[in-house]
Amino acid sequence: MQRTDVDHLIIGAGFAGLCTAIKLQEAGETDFLVIEKDDDVGGTWHANTYPGAACDVPSQLYSFSFALNPEWSAAYSPQPEILAYLRRVAADSGTLDRFRLGTEVLDARWDAGLGRWIVTSTAGEYAARTLIAGAGGLSEPRLPEIEGIGSFAGPVFHTARWDHDVELAGRRVAVIGTGASAIQAVPELRKVAARVDVYQRTPNWVIPRNERRTSDLEKRLFRRVPAVQRAVRAGVYTALEARVPAFVRFPRLQALTEAAAKANIRRGITDPALRAAVTPDYRAGCKRILISNAWYPALAADNVELVTTRIDRITPGGIVDADGTHREVDVLVIATGFHVTDPPIAERITGRDGRTLAEVWTETGMRAYKGTTIHGFPNLFQLVGPNTALGHSSMVFIIESQVRYVVDAVDALRRSGWAPVEPTPAAQEAWNEHVQERMGSTVWTTGGCASWYLDRFGNNTTLWPGHTFTFRRHLARFDRGAYQVVDPAPAVQSDTPPGAQPGTEKESVTA
Ligand code: NAP
Repeated sequence: MQRTDVDHLIIGAGFAGLCTAIKLQEAGETDFLVIEKDDDVGGTWHANTYPGAACDVPSQLYSFSFALNPEWSAAYSPQPEILAYLRRVAADSGTLDRFRLGTEVLDARWDAGLGRWIVTSTAGEYAARTLIAGAGGLSEPRLPEIEGIGSFAGPVFHTARWDHDVELAGRRVAVIGTGASAIQAVPELRKVAARVDVYQRTPNWVIPRNERRTSDLEKRLFRRVPAVQRAVRAGVYTALEARVPAFVRFPRLQALTEAAAKANIRRGITDPALRAAVTPDYRAGCKRILISNAWYPALAADNVELVTTRIDRITPGGIVDADGTHREVDVLVIATGFHVTDPPIAERITGRDGRTLAEVWTETGMRAYKGTTIHGFPNLFQLVGPNTALGHSSMVFIIESQVRYVVDAVDALRRSGWAPVEPTPAAQEAWNEHVQERMGSTVWTTGGCASWYLDRFGNNTTLWPGHTFTFRRHLARFDRGAYQVVDPAPAVQSDTPPGAQPGTEKESVTA
């Protein structure tokens, strides 16, 4: 099989992979490839095309700090705008020639002899000094285990795999789940479908959404004076950071959010029984706080029924609830979220002791050092890794923080002659102890709900329990002292100077 040797292999062409490519290039590290299973850049924003898909993080914060977008149309951006933004940034970056789209990672294993990751993909084999995984924290749909789901005769699809060929006009649609995706899709679905049954297991706290559109004057100003847009962005950033204490230290402050959500319910719904059915009985923030002005009016619409009785089974023609009621359905939409604490990419990455990341994490729960590097997995950098996700602000800030750290680490690796490193067990343990200690007082732990933030041990291995600027400070420099060299590097001298392009001259053929 032909093998392509590169210094750095990046998995995923979403915000994380794209940011890495751009920042490595800026640092003179041009010998990299980005492999992406989909046929386009965009990651989540390429995959999630369901009707109504939009970002619930303010637009001004949902862009790279180095590529502000003066053209955002509104306070919150719809998916097509974000995808267009990412395509534009990718095209302008001069890195697209090193993207291999439609290429899926099948297996990645550390080869101690070579001091490289050997990565098998659907398009051939790669050998890389570093493996930078930006495969997405929310990329693999989680399908519900409901009896009979396989027997349903009509179309079935997950929100993140929307089938646009399926005609919905005049059809009876059932939606399972009432999370962030469902609350965006249902208000659109009910405009075309004859009927929508919404199956709710647990209600969410849903606060109003700012629908403000950006005026032409503002856009012109942002274009001409980027400092103005930076100032607006800083204001939005600060306002969101001000919410952190209510999540992390003083969950009682979430009563303010609950009041806003209850007012939202009263505005959207008049029926007392329906109001009661959508009012959560746990502290706001325990699950992700959602934003929508359209969700409650949609549930109150004549052609929508909220079903709160547990689903018993699915038949070829519909859904039977635990009370024995059978509702006929033409199209089944699955809005039950993603594999978060058991990411499937972890099953495909094998460390130096022959165990996969999934095997290691099955024993311990997801753990990493600073959410980015993992003991036993030399030169692996996990973007949006354990305890890096946010309940209050933009993941783009976290991604940029991690990428700075990775670029600094790569610089250190190059200067050391590529001696492979991984965090020491002590450093990794201390980091996770610190993070878990902080979890005790958070609303995610004390709020009285079951959420996808928690793993099967009940630990929150998903969210960062603090301010985003604290996270950034922790990752400001590659802290070599927390790392150990795992094997003598096979070559003392770097054989590729920074600035080399990944090229055919380095492609080698192996047996
Ligand atoms: P989600 O928030 O995990 O919601 C899944 C929903 O499905 C929940 O209501 C859950 O109920 C329900 N569910 C799960 N398994 C079920 C089962 N077996 N039977 C019945 N109901 C079941 O998933 P999501 O809506 O796709 O959103 C996931 C995350 O993606 C969000 O939290 C957010 O981080 C991200 N997202 C972001 C945006 C954005 O605007 N930026 C938009 C969409 C998604 P329980 O609550 O009872 O578990």
